Amino acid sequence: MRQDYYDKIAPRGQLIVVSGPSGVGKRTVLRKYMAEHPRACHSVSATTRDPRPNEVDGVDYFFLSFEEFDRQIRTNQMLEYAYYNHHCYGTPKKGVEDARAAGRNVILEIEVNGAMQVKKLCPDATLVFIMPPSWKELERRLRERNTETEEAIQERLEIAKEEIAMADQYDYIIVNDTVEKAISRFAQIVHGHRYSINCMTEFLKTYIEGEIHAQERLAY
Ligand code: 5GP
Repeated sequence: MRQDYYDKIAPRGQLIVVSGPSGVGKRTVLRKYMAEHPRACHSVSATTRDPRPNEVDGVDYFFLSFEEFDRQIRTNQMLEYAYYNHHCYGTPKKGVEDARAAGRNVILEIEVNGAMQVKKLCPDATLVFIMPPSWKELERRLRERNTETEEAIQERLEIAKEEIAMADQYDYIIVNDTVEKAISRFAQIVHGHRYSINCMTEFLKTYIEGEIHAQERLAY
């Protein structure tokens, strides 16, 4: 009986959604955070784009054909999905659910349309937007990568404008001026949220115990 109550209030892992324009450095921030906090894990997304050099199937992304991606949407296997820069991207539902049930904090690094779907579907998700320190700096970081044509960079900057316009839909904004500061702010957000969930759980446990004792006394 008591266990039934506890199971219902047992803390699941948090769901943290992170977005930000291409080139803002979100991957670096998240990788370093996860290296320091093994309780957190990254959800591996599915995409129809081709792998880049050094990207590994099943580690960086699940690289799917359009037909397979479409089949997974139709069979309700995606938590969210979106079309971005001529390709499909989506979050497989099962991995997220299993990891959260095991108490792990799951980080989704996804673009804004997918983030808005998660916001509706999972009201307990925490949404974090990573902002560049300035527009000039974002341009500089994109060019510094040296992996894309000028046309592709301009396209990414256009998308970035639309993404930044949606930052007010997020719970928190972090300015990535230095990676260390951004990681520390990210950690404060995640751990602060965890602290309030733990306080709530402790309160409920004590409250339920009190109620059960009161009922047991009455039954005498
Ligand atoms: P890239 O092709 O540079 O790896 O990613 C392009 C964009 O797709 C990034 O903004 C990234 O955050 C986003 N993205 C990656 N995985 C997902 C996903 O599962 N769902 C959505 N909606 N966006 C994703």
